[in-house]
Amino acid sequence: MTVIDSKDQATRTAPDVREVISTVEELRELLPSIGEAQAAEMREVQARYPFRIPRYYVEKVLRNDPADPLWSLALPGKAEIYDAGTERWDAFQLAERVMDHPRWIQKYKYEVLLRLTNFCSGLCRYCYLKNRENVQGFLSHAEIDVMFDAAEASPQREALREIVLSGGDPLTVPGEYLEHLAERIDRLNKTVRRRITVTVHTREPVWSPLRVMRTKGLLRGLEKLKPASYILHVVHPREVTKGLLDCMAMLGNLTEARKPLMMTQHPLFRGINDDARVITEMYDALDAGDVVVKPYYLIHPFPDGTLPQHRLRLTESQAILRALASAPGTRVPLLTIPTPMGKCVIGPYEKLEDRGGFYLLHTKDGVPVEYTTGELYNPAERRDHIPVTISSRRGGI
Ligand code: SF4
Repeated sequence: MTVIDSKDQATRTAPDVREVISTVEELRELLPSIGEAQAAEMREVQARYPFRIPRYYVEKVLRNDPADPLWSLALPGKAEIYDAGTERWDAFQLAERVMDHPRWIQKYKYEVLLRLTNFCSGLCRYCYLKNRENVQGFLSHAEIDVMFDAAEASPQREALREIVLSGGDPLTVPGEYLEHLAERIDRLNKTVRRRITVTVHTREPVWSPLRVMRTKGLLRGLEKLKPASYILHVVHPREVTKGLLDCMAMLGNLTEARKPLMMTQHPLFRGINDDARVITEMYDALDAGDVVVKPYYLIHPFPDGTLPQHRLRLTESQAILRALASAPGTRVPLLTIPTPMGKCVIGPYEKLEDRGGFYLLHTKDGVPVEYTTGELYNPAERRDHIPVTISSRRGGI
């Protein structure tokens, strides 16, 4: 599908502020059941961590009911005040990476994650990039050129197989930047023997699908990028709105050839989606649309960001996977345990042996990780043997 529209030259993809709610007062107009005490608490949290939520999400997903479990994921709450918001995730990187730039995050020789922005239309209260300080603003043309000039000159580039576009959210980036990025990725691909594919990590079709669908510049940029896959971050069946399904269908049909693989990944949260029935309902809702969405990752709570009331022990996450595993293989996700050293994946019946307060896991590359048997994993504990760099990070450990 061609989306070029000559009248759209001035289109920017950052959300229209009228569609995004950023004050507690505006929010209470839509959710009047927010009482005075809760509003005061929200303001206190907002003084420390930014708050933003698209009107679409409030109107179509949330209920005007303080008992709605999704409130604690989307609206400021006092549990956040005790979160340091330490953004140490990017501190752990491969010593032999293709190049060194704050936006270029490389934990594996075959995959790089590009932080295109620190912006998202809505701010998840469990985000591990809580202070939004990992990178600033949208990536510029000059930064794209610096990164890809270096990548073209790097002997490590032959090992690269995938460029993951992340953020913040890549679907908030102005389309002309994405077009330039697409040109540089195409150019890099001409210097290597096998194709380096593009994957897009996004939650924008959940937060604000109508904006995505009408932003021609963004669609034009995505059409040029030709992602091999989109990995949609959706956490609950109610988030699967008609707008989301329409948006996924539109993203899937931007190109005639090599249509992207659509996949979903979702963190697990106690009290919200820590139940295979809830997750299956979400998969079924996604399957009701016009594109096939493969359940990809079931994510054990992140070490950073996840609020205390939502944390799980590893054995609890594994039990959820076990309850999902008895289904066609195309409907069963991988249980992944995020660690700053890389992802660990465990099977539904894998024996987890308590070795004195920790399990011994391995990343995809075989790096050993001592992972807590409790709910709170501290990645600072066990990293001596990991090849890491912290030079590009503030707040690294
Ligand atoms: S969409 Fe992703 S990057 Fe954005 S606030 Fe949520 S978890 Fe963080």
